[in-house]
Amino acid sequence: MIKISDRISNLEESVTLAITAKAKALKAAGRDVIGLGAGEPDFDTPENIKDAAHIAINEGRTKYTPVGGVPELKDAIIDRLKLDRDLTYTRGEILISCGGKHSIYNLFQALLDPGDEVIIPAPYWVSYPPMVELAGGVPVIITTNDTSGFKITAKDFRASITKKTRAVIINSPSNPTGAVYSLEELREIAEVAIEYNILIVSDEIYDKLHYEQGDAPAIATISEQVKAQTVVLNGVSKAYSMTGWRIGYAAGPAELIGAMMKLQSQSTSGAASISQWAALEAFSGPQDAVAVMRDEFQKRRALIVASLNAIDGITCLAPEGAFYVFPNISKLFGKSDGDTKITDSVSFCSYLLETAEVAVVPGAAFGLDAYMRLSYASSTKNIKEGITRIEKACRRLS
Ligand code: GLU
Repeated sequence: MIKISDRISNLEESVTLAITAKAKALKAAGRDVIGLGAGEPDFDTPENIKDAAHIAINEGRTKYTPVGGVPELKDAIIDRLKLDRDLTYTRGEILISCGGKHSIYNLFQALLDPGDEVIIPAPYWVSYPPMVELAGGVPVIITTNDTSGFKITAKDFRASITKKTRAVIINSPSNPTGAVYSLEELREIAEVAIEYNILIVSDEIYDKLHYEQGDAPAIATISEQVKAQTVVLNGVSKAYSMTGWRIGYAAGPAELIGAMMKLQSQSTSGAASISQWAALEAFSGPQDAVAVMRDEFQKRRALIVASLNAIDGITCLAPEGAFYVFPNISKLFGKSDGDTKITDSVSFCSYLLETAEVAVVPGAAFGLDAYMRLSYASSTKNIKEGITRIEKACRRLS
């Protein structure tokens, strides 16, 4: 028998990916499952981006790239950050990795020593705490709820700081709630981070999916001082519907980016060359597709929020960004359908999958058990049918 390391034995599988895989497997086996679990756009990657990949293949750009990414792609990211945010970066301050997730992983590996603390607002994206722990760090959770709009305040942040605090994660727009911090809220948080010399980890993977005016506010734009203490994390997955291409990037202080690159040189090397050339087209080519997808998500958001709020026992805030809703389901806890008792978000989501054939993610996976996450990166038809089934299943509970 092979003994698996304690580190990996104690690691839980990503719940978001597990539920997405389960829904796909059930569908492949002929079950009529509606998947509202997956956090990935249902659109195809735009044609101009796919064409750029074909050209790269045909021209033989299929060899190792520099570890940190092809210079042309770094420049396209630098130009995008300048154009969209008026932020100035140099090539040494950018690292291209194998997806946004990989950028976050590299970051914590390069930053943390055993016992170092990272402040994480809950609900949080499922992989933040495990990634911190894999680097020997300690996640320090600040719990929010729907009454506070799922956002922490500068006061909450200050109260969680200890001598061991190294970083705080700000994920705006948020996965799983869609909450967006205003520039003023970010300014107050940044002031505390500066006071205590804490690195700001700004995960902006959903920045283009913002349903108010323009991109969601970005903390590094507040001042040069804040920018110098921030690592911006982003990628092509969500805005350009390129989840499978696996391209993410980090933009931040050269010292830290250099350390992350060193780790990457001993692990994955550079990201896939073809994906990098495709990402170059995503960042520097026409941006129309981004707005088309965002407008479609906005319509679906209205539909899903209204129909969830019409269900007895469920209340749902309208998110300002991303493509998730995070409704409160706690009024359903304690109810039963025959022998099936709903005790928490996990039992409710299993009940939905078994009886209504709808896949959603339990709030417990994001650190808040009174909720569940639904993705509206799915067709209007699927959303309508999925919510109708959830409504019927809820009616059976008493
Ligand atoms: N980020 C997406 C989600 O939350 C994709 C799956 C994952 O990597 O967690 O569903």
